[in-house]
Amino acid sequence: MSSKRFDEITALCKRRGFVFQSSEIYGGLGATYDYGPLGVELKRNVQERWWHDMVYANDNIEGVDAAILMHPRVWKASGHVDAFHDPLIDDKASKRRYRADQLIEQHIDRLRAKGKTQRADAVHEQFTQALNADDMPKALHALILAEEIRGPDSGAFDWTDVRQFNMMFETKVGALAGEDSSIFLRPETAQGIFVNFQNVLATSRVQIPFGIAQIGKAFRNEIVARQFIFRMREFEQMEMQYFVQPGTQAEAYELWRSRRWDWHVQNGIPESKLRWHVHEKPAHYADAAVDIQYEFPIGWQEVEGIHSRTDYDLRRHQEYSGKKMQIFHQPSGSRFIPFVVETSVGLDRTVLMLLCEAYRKDEIEGQSRTVMSFAPSIAPIKVGIFPLLRKDGMPERARTITADLRREWNVFYDEKGSIGKRYRRMDEAGTPLCITIDSETLGGAGVTIRNRDTLEQVRVADDQVSAFVSEFVRGA
Ligand code: ATP
Repeated sequence: MSSKRFDEITALCKRRGFVFQSSEIYGGLGATYDYGPLGVELKRNVQERWWHDMVYANDNIEGVDAAILMHPRVWKASGHVDAFHDPLIDDKASKRRYRADQLIEQHIDRLRAKGKTQRADAVHEQFTQALNADDMPKALHALILAEEIRGPDSGAFDWTDVRQFNMMFETKVGALAGEDSSIFLRPETAQGIFVNFQNVLATSRVQIPFGIAQIGKAFRNEIVARQFIFRMREFEQMEMQYFVQPGTQAEAYELWRSRRWDWHVQNGIPESKLRWHVHEKPAHYADAAVDIQYEFPIGWQEVEGIHSRTDYDLRRHQEYSGKKMQIFHQPSGSRFIPFVVETSVGLDRTVLMLLCEAYRKDEIEGQSRTVMSFAPSIAPIKVGIFPLLRKDGMPERARTITADLRREWNVFYDEKGSIGKRYRRMDEAGTPLCITIDSETLGGAGVTIRNRDTLEQVRVADDQVSAFVSEFVRGA
């Protein structure tokens, strides 16, 4: 699926240095991307906001940074070796591959959008049954045929069977290749948290309920990967596992559902563009699961999952490692393996959501402009600083202000080109404030600060600039 708006956003990402295709000079590597100078700042700001909201804002959440490579038995225990599969189907006409479950979900959405509610409900019911069938691929295939779902790209109705495909990347460790040397690149960061759960408990002062947070890379050999940074083979997750007393997981699940929804809204995503998507068939480890979806220009898609993972992972690690995962819970005087509620958000997907939400085109003084209206706290560059002319001491004054602001913020000094062009560049980068130093500044009238969104310009005394910027960025 594609859209003009989505294509414009991806083009802007490349043109302005948010995101580049990986290894582009060699023709690129599918579904892998690099972040450029603006993209890396945006990503870091999102990371920081998440870390702050999880680790610093809660005295019962600690952070870790676990290795990507883990003992191969971790993935046996977690179930990923046996069950980390996607049901895939090929359109023989376009030679494109799709996830069978997603084709059916999209079909149901289309029926609903056309007002065919009863029919949508009936297909939905059959879909649930297919997901729970012993031979799930065959049941999904039968439903695709029965509903005459056509290839999204070709419009053809010429499908292969549905097959299961394991998505973990396998590699060899050490010099000797052989069965024993096989390891996997982690397909999720969560397991690095589970295997360290007793270590964190023993070394910090947290007590149940408590959480462990982590930001890091994950790898999945995605087959259907053609939606820019929405679906990558190497991506980053921000995950938090919240360990609770068995029986209290429903409460924790509700708590984190609402906390995570609010976080996205605080980042500037309107609630009308977010919705819940309840899993028909939660993953093998979960007793309840819900996604937060965002209305991307390519349709409603998942950004974050909140999963009630029961004690599945810890119990399995206890079984496979022989190490105790039970804890003694002083307040109740009981011993148990904690239950876990997980929040798992894709960093790259969040970045893409923010890019899509920020992208606007408007007109000022008869000229069209493209503007990225990021919340100031997320914007890659906070302030653009321009001497109006490259003479009369304006650059020197502008440099002094730049040096001052640089101590705290990522700012951009630019003295080349017309002032209009300099503003447009900063609008496209999503810079919320631009400061201009002109002859009146030199005469003591202060600088001009222009607001990216309102285009309002105010005069601010030189020695108040820093406070003005801080209040503006922090207050937003
Ligand atoms: P999807 O159904 O889209 O494949 P998922 O349900 O498999 O996603 P989870 O395993 O719940 O995803 O992972 C949690 C989060 O990690 C997702 O909500 C998403 O934001 C992010 N994520 C998962 N796979 C990818 C990917 N291939 N590229 C980028 N982000 C991803």
